Amino acid sequence: MLKPEQLKKEAYKNAKDFKKKIASLKKEKDKKLDLKINDLDDKAFAHIDCLSCANCCKTLGPLFTQKDVERVAKHLRMKPGAFTEKYLRIDEDHDYVLQETPCSFLDSENYCTIYDVRPKACADYPNTHLKNQKKMLGLLQKNVEYCPAVFEIVEKL
Ligand code: SF4
Ligand code: SF4
Repeated sequence: MLKPEQLKKEAYKNAKDFKKKIASLKKEKDKKLDLKINDLDDKAFAHIDCLSCANCCKTLGPLFTQKDVERVAKHLRMKPGAFTEKYLRIDEDHDYVLQETPCSFLDSENYCTIYDVRPKACADYPNTHLKNQKKMLGLLQKNVEYCPAVFEIVEKL
C-alpha cells in the first residue's frame, strides 16, 4: 500500500494515464462498470487497513448533512446549533464541512471517536463499493490523490 505522503507524487506521475483510463470508462455499460470497480474495491480493502492510513480523515474531512449534524450533536449531548458553531463552517458550495483538518473526531491512533454516528460521507468514502460509479468518475479521479485504495483500484482498472 502506498503511504499517504507518497500518494500525491505517484498520482502526479500517473496523472495522464489515469485521466485517460478514467475517461474511457464512460463508454462502459453502467452495470459492468459497477461490478468492475466494486470488485477492485473488495480486493483493495482486503489488504488495506484504514487504521494505518486515515488520510481521508486527516486531509479531506466530510460534508455534514442536516441529519448528520442532528445525529452527531445528539450523541455528543449538544444542541445542533452549538455543534455547528463549534465544529463546522459553510464552504463555497454552501455545504457544512469541518472547520479544520485533521478531523476533530480522529484520535491519536486513527480511530474515529464518533464512529457509530459518523457522517454518511465518511461511511461511504471512498464510494468505490457503491452503485452508479459512472456518475462518480470525477470523484474517482480526485480521490487517487488522497486514498491509497482508490489509487490501487484505478491502477488495476
Ligand atoms: S478510506 Fe482510503 S484514505 Fe481513508 S483511511 Fe481508508 S485507505 Fe486511507
Ligand atoms: S468523523 Fe470520523 S470518519 Fe469522519 S473524518 Fe472524522 S474521524 Fe474520520
